[in-house]
Amino acid sequence: MSNLTKNIIWAVITLIVISLVFSYFVGPQTQPKTLNLDQLVADINAGQVKQIKVNGNELDITMTDGSAAIAQKEAESGISDTLKNLGVNQQALQTVDLQVVNQSGWQFWAGILVDPILTLLIIGILFWFMFRQAKTGVNQAFNFGRSNLKLSNVKDRVFFKDVAGLREAKEELIEVVDFLKNPQKFLDLGARIPRGILLMGPPGTGKTLVARAVAGESNVPFFYISASEFVEMFVGVGASRTRDAFMQAKRAAPAILFIDEIDAVGRQRGAGMGGGSDEREQTLNQILVEMDGFDRDTRVIVLAATNRPDILDPALLRPGRFDRRVILDLPDMNDREAILKIHAEGKTLEKDVDLRRVAARTPGFSGADLANLMNEAAIASARHNKKSIGQPELLEAAEKVIMGPERKSRVISQKEKEITAYHEGGHALVAASVKDADPVQKVSIISRGFAGGYTMKLPSEDQHLKTRNQFLADLSMMMGGYVSEKLTFGDISTGASNDLKEASELARRMVVKYGMSDLGPIVFGKTEQMMFLGQEISNEKNYSERVASEIDEQVRKLLMHAHDIAEKILKTHKAALKKIADTLIEKEVLEQDDFNAVLKPFKIKPIAA
Ligand code: ADP
Ligand code: MG
Ligand code: ZN
Repeated sequence: MSNLTKNIIWAVITLIVISLVFSYFVGPQTQPKTLNLDQLVADINAGQVKQIKVNGNELDITMTDGSAAIAQKEAESGISDTLKNLGVNQQALQTVDLQVVNQSGWQFWAGILVDPILTLLIIGILFWFMFRQAKTGVNQAFNFGRSNLKLSNVKDRVFFKDVAGLREAKEELIEVVDFLKNPQKFLDLGARIPRGILLMGPPGTGKTLVARAVAGESNVPFFYISASEFVEMFVGVGASRTRDAFMQAKRAAPAILFIDEIDAVGRQRGAGMGGGSDEREQTLNQILVEMDGFDRDTRVIVLAATNRPDILDPALLRPGRFDRRVILDLPDMNDREAILKIHAEGKTLEKDVDLRRVAARTPGFSGADLANLMNEAAIASARHNKKSIGQPELLEAAEKVIMGPERKSRVISQKEKEITAYHEGGHALVAASVKDADPVQKVSIISRGFAGGYTMKLPSEDQHLKTRNQFLADLSMMMGGYVSEKLTFGDISTGASNDLKEASELARRMVVKYGMSDLGPIVFGKTEQMMFLGQEISNEKNYSERVASEIDEQVRKLLMHAHDIAEKILKTHKAALKKIADTLIEKEVLEQDDFNAVLKPFKIKPIAA
């Protein structure tokens, strides 16, 4: 039954009950008329009275026409005497059915008590309802202090085999599993058991997953809470929730207590950002107190996750607290392949699917991204009415995860298409013509997300270091679109603006951060980095205006150099550029092999950037 019908039914029932109660009190609509005794005698003499019931002093009178009346007799004398005194006709009185109702004590008292008892009962029920309502409210208020600790289901246990890669993390955590399983072995040796382990890594790298795997492997309950839930509007709630969470975990020991996003409360105290929140500090203090309060053999291990270890309060990291740190990195190519394999389980893949190639195409993807990729591929295959997932769907899904869904429907004019083709062709040709540039994987003039078209070039292997020459090659390639438009159409579109922005930023970083300009091996400006996110929070200028203009000069020089390289390449290979652009206009997308085939006849020799 829907809520609405339920409510309506309740409303109707309530109305009926209320009207019944009212009619009880108000009595029947047709009130019996009240006669005085003289009138009664007159009526009896006229033969209009059928019956008189005497009930104490009350006379319930029924007339011959069926109507009812009441009258009151005098208390001291009997009914017959009273009527006689008033001159009733004896014969007429004989015809009246005169009854004297002998009131028993019970009836008497019932008559008096029924009304107030019923009233009290109704008031009582009303109060009971109101009280119940209020009580749930009160309970909710009390619940603020309780944690929203979630206990993970035994059914969806995960194990280390469900976690691909992350070898170091697993090695570190196997010890924890061992301890939870045979604590005595460690205690006998007088070893201090780890209490807190901090899992650090970018979002989606499997911090939650690996923590759950520890619980799964040790076969203990897994309690999950996000530190952001500790912090509520009311001061003091966080601390009491913390106490509650630890209490629950201790009661279930041996157990794992997982605190996600610990940076939400564990931020360095007194660090400027966001102002010092009392509530956060209290919660953090409470966590520290709880962890210090563990006995040597408390078998609760606290795992905490963060992607901002750089901002954590050092107090959290002291011995006896989160003194072990496990770093979870983004997966490399082998790990990516392994993660894809795990998420391909239970899905049917076509025989020619090459997960290694998918892995090669997805550097920088986190485990969560890869899981998402697999799912997108499965959805795409289902949409194409296929029974299994094919390589094209996988590659398509990879791009979708990077760039957002393809927007085939965006109408572009022929002229726009031509401009985009030359623009992307310019990027691709420059990339193919400078040494140290990453190979072009795909060129497309189908718009995606915000990009009008795109040229995808990826390093053939995972890179951790980049050289100045590689940056120069990147800069030249970024300029390729702009230069190509200028050379071909003698005009420049807004399509190049994002390239120019990125190129300018890269050039500036080369100068102020990497010491890759004529200004030499100096770093300018003081920046604070968000460790994994690679963003700069603040940029303090610690150089003079004169140096500032020198920096600008160097940035400009780098950009102009890149521009000139791109121009030189595109001018010398005009025919190749035209060929690429024409093929793009026709096919819209060139995969790596197609692109290389188009370029092959031109026998381009890469030059240094
Ligand atoms: P985090 O907590 O670090 O943000 P999660 O543990 O929530 O990341 O990971 C999200 C999902 O990504 C997991 O549920 C899992 O499906 C997938 N995933 C991440 N890393 C891995 C991995 N190493 N192996 C297998 N799956 C992974
Ligand atoms: Mg997580
Ligand atoms: Zn571009």
